[in-house]
Amino acid sequence: MTGANFLFEADGKKILIDCGLTQGLKVADDINWEVFPYDPKGIDILFVTHSHVDHVGRIPKLIAEGFRGKIYSTRPTRALSLPMLEDTAGILSKNTDLGLDKIYTAENIQLAFSLWQDFDYHQKITITPALEVSLLNAGHILGSAMVEFVYNGKKILFTGDLGNSPSPILPDTEKVTDIDYLVMESVYGDRNHESRNERRKFLEETIEDNYKRKGTLVIPTFSLERSQELLFELNTLVEGNRIPPMPIFFDSPLAIRLTEIFKQFKNYLNENAQKAMRSDKYLFDFPGLHSTLKSEESKMIGNVPNPKIVIAGSGMSTGGRIVHHERHFLPDANNTILLTGYQAVGSPGRLIQEGIKTVHISGEDVTVRAHVVTILGYSGHKDSDGLLNFVADTQDSLKKVFVVMGEPKSSMFLVQKLRDNLGIDASAPEQGSSVSFVC
Ligand SMILES: [Zn+2]
Repeated sequence: MTGANFLFEADGKKILIDCGLTQGLKVADDINWEVFPYDPKGIDILFVTHSHVDHVGRIPKLIAEGFRGKIYSTRPTRALSLPMLEDTAGILSKNTDLGLDKIYTAENIQLAFSLWQDFDYHQKITITPALEVSLLNAGHILGSAMVEFVYNGKKILFTGDLGNSPSPILPDTEKVTDIDYLVMESVYGDRNHESRNERRKFLEETIEDNYKRKGTLVIPTFSLERSQELLFELNTLVEGNRIPPMPIFFDSPLAIRLTEIFKQFKNYLNENAQKAMRSDKYLFDFPGLHSTLKSEESKMIGNVPNPKIVIAGSGMSTGGRIVHHERHFLPDANNTILLTGYQAVGSPGRLIQEGIKTVHISGEDVTVRAHVVTILGYSGHKDSDGLLNFVADTQDSLKKVFVVMGEPKSSMFLVQKLRDNLGIDASAPEQGSSVSFVC
């Protein structure tokens, strides 16, 4: 995932949209530590679209290099960003070779939050008399927003990441209209997902198959949003007696902490989830669910008799508690590994998905005999058709679309699709390039 970081200048103001970490095979890819192509001291405002690390992960670096402007986001984004940044700092501050221990400090994180103000969706934020900003619901993760600038009557929209609506728990991405210039993500610009009904059915079947084999179902998952979506789906399956009773371990301290924040921001969930919450107070909690905070508890899971389910991070099996579960469970043909999210090229998760028989996980070779199942429908991003439909809603007013935040193949495919299907002027600008237009 490429770290999002855009600079928007209007009316003498320098405004950033997101300040994320690029997350490839290594957590600390060198590209993250290059100097910013602007002076952080001269930035007035940083808008944060959402709390994924590829959108917030370099905020401590921005602070370390002198940024003292304002940080603006929605309320849930501010709340979720704290555990996300603390978790990132916990990993990166161990890297003294690159001097990251001096950047990812508690002081820098604290300073960032002292500059951070939160807003409701649609609240008008006046920057100058000619420049006004609103945060619109992107439907990607809890609190995720698109940033809409209105400058002298012209609208420029940065999408951040766009949700794969309908989500089990979030409201749909807002329709946008009258946009003049659009800067949009393209993570799934060249692919379509399975539908929502198929994904829940597929999840149910995978759980049942694993139950019949008396195995352990291992689900590597991203801590933010995917974990809570899965808990919601499992809650529905358990409470509806759709799957046989069995222990389900939620084995990620970060995901457990984030789930508590989801409970605080119930009114940001979709109507369906809010309705479910009225009849079932504990939407992310159900019989058989064990949240294991302590590492001793995590290590005991291997001794619990099958069948059972283990949900743990990280989502691409590059670190976290999933690593010891995979070493333990992957060699057994009765077990299942279920992949529900994007797996970066070369990551252990991607290699397992592609059918590798021996995978190198955290310094150890592990034989894969377990069943490997992928459900793509749980992606948090709009697919290719979803992105096209999003643009189509505002195609009449659009002067230009800038396609960003995807692998080149994906961005170029979407550019071509926008040109061919909608007749829109679209391009995929290279990293570091800039564009000016007169408003
Ligand atoms: Zn995201």
